[in-house]
Amino acid sequence: MISALLLASTQTWAAYGNFPPPVAPFSNRSLPVSHTRMPIVFPLVGYNSYNDDYNSHRSGFRHTGIDIRAPKMTPIVSPIKGHIGFKIHSFWIYGDYGWKILGTHLNDDTPGTNDGKNNFDFMFAPNIRFGDHVEAGQLIGYVGDSGDATGPHLHFEMYSPNGIRNPFPSLKSAIHADGPVRVFRNIQDKPDPGMERFEICKRNWSHLSGNFFGILVGKQYDNGRVIMSRSPSFVTFNFPEGLADKADIDSWPTDRPASVYFYREAGKMIITKLVPPDN
Ligand SMILES: [Zn+2]
Repeated sequence: MISALLLASTQTWAAYGNFPPPVAPFSNRSLPVSHTRMPIVFPLVGYNSYNDDYNSHRSGFRHTGIDIRAPKMTPIVSPIKGHIGFKIHSFWIYGDYGWKILGTHLNDDTPGTNDGKNNFDFMFAPNIRFGDHVEAGQLIGYVGDSGDATGPHLHFEMYSPNGIRNPFPSLKSAIHADGPVRVFRNIQDKPDPGMERFEICKRNWSHLSGNFFGILVGKQYDNGRVIMSRSPSFVTFNFPEGLADKADIDSWPTDRPASVYFYREAGKMIITKLVPPDN
């Protein structure tokens, strides 16, 4: 799946079907400057700063968005609900009400390094698939300094149904979330008293050893409370043979979470139930 995406990023935008990335004007001519505003969720969670650098002069073109400066790995959430498209370093949303959004320079480094390895698990949320419908406030990726960025920031563009617009007024009046919105399947299937539930996307699985390696999407406690991940968090489980056989883990997609129900005993996680991912 990861290699397929990397391959797709080198192809023409026709490869993106019904959701090609919006293309900003590239010229010295002024961009539209009407102060249209769209209600949005602010695209970053946590410390950031920005100023109105839309339409500013760059070498040979105008700056087509706003650069929101923030530390590497700051969570990026979807500003509006709609369908998501992405390729290496970039995402875009086709909003349900006709607007589009594009963000780029997502993180391309192994956290704590500047290695430019382009690991998608450090770039995008683990559970998004091209064309998915995402909620406003849903975690979609992480801030970085990929491409020609001189420092970590999110380059943020907005498009009304009539073309590119200045995101500044919308950013100024945006709702600031204190964490990614809860997007949790079958939230009513909370764990029994004393148990926990992890929603986790498969990354590696050995039938022989029973070792399962995955990336956490969120967790739920026995009182029903849900906490969503806001950074890549890897978890290893050892699945008991009987449960693993029934769950057919080899067939699990990597971009849909499975539910792992367990309790803790003497520092070990004892698994009692596995619910395979949807589709
Ligand atoms: Zn920019």
